[in-house]
Amino acid sequence: MSEQLERIEKSSVNDMVIQKLIDEHLEEINNPWKLISGRRFNAELIDPPAFSRGIYVCNVPLGAIYVSDQLYNHLDSEELRYIVLHEICHILYNNSAANFLLEFGKSGFNLLLSKWTKLELESVEDILGGVKTIIKEFGYPGVEEQVKRNQELNADKYAVIWMGNKEPAISALTKLVQGKVEEISHITKYGRFEFPLLTIKERIQAIKQLKI
Ligand SMILES: [Zn+2]
Repeated sequence: MSEQLERIEKSSVNDMVIQKLIDEHLEEINNPWKLISGRRFNAELIDPPAFSRGIYVCNVPLGAIYVSDQLYNHLDSEELRYIVLHEICHILYNNSAANFLLEFGKSGFNLLLSKWTKLELESVEDILGGVKTIIKEFGYPGVEEQVKRNQELNADKYAVIWMGNKEPAISALTKLVQGKVEEISHITKYGRFEFPLLTIKERIQAIKQLKI
């Protein structure tokens, strides 16, 4: 795990509000598994305002969604729901699956998963064993810039369609960059947070063009 992720994970706590939004959506899509942990953390300047880590194997979504205190405190409940749905989409589409497995790698990963999911360590090891056999399907991190752009736009689309409302997405994205809509939006590569060639302004424009 990168130092940055390790620090974020250590400072993070389970948040009941984020958790409820995640679990409600999993119910909405008829997924009986509640194995995505909703976490809140105190962000430093270099940290992204929100991100997720997870995998989706055999209809089981597993992972965690992190929202920084700084963002959390500025969002209303619908805006927070948009952020959560966007991140759930990344997990369901395995957008960071390869990163997730690489970053959390060996040490402590099983324990972390078991802590998140409240599963017995043995069950976690069984699941990970299953994941390893199909890991090839996930591809590798460092995918093309165009693919990363599309993953972001797709996650926005997913969230907006499920919400049936564009406004919370637009206002949350605007708050994300404190009004500076030209700002680039974060994503990750090899465990580091990088900037894709996609501005918040472009994301907002794409949302406005969606037909819902
Ligand atoms: Zn995203």
